[in-house]
Amino acid sequence: MEATYPEMKCAFCNSPVLIETAKTNERGQLIHEDCYVQSLRTNRDPSANFAPDSD
Ligand SMILES: [Zn+2]
Repeated sequence: MEATYPEMKCAFCNSPVLIETAKTNERGQLIHEDCYVQSLRTNRDPSANFAPDSD
């Protein structure tokens, strides 16, 4: 049996994430770099996916 790292999961997409390549979010949780960027965008502007209401 070889020693394995505890399974770490991305705080955003819940997929396995490597500690060496992961970032940590403001809560100290591991997160993929791409997911971190996405989470920042999501937090900043939840309605970013919708087209702006051109009035
Ligand atoms: Zn992720």
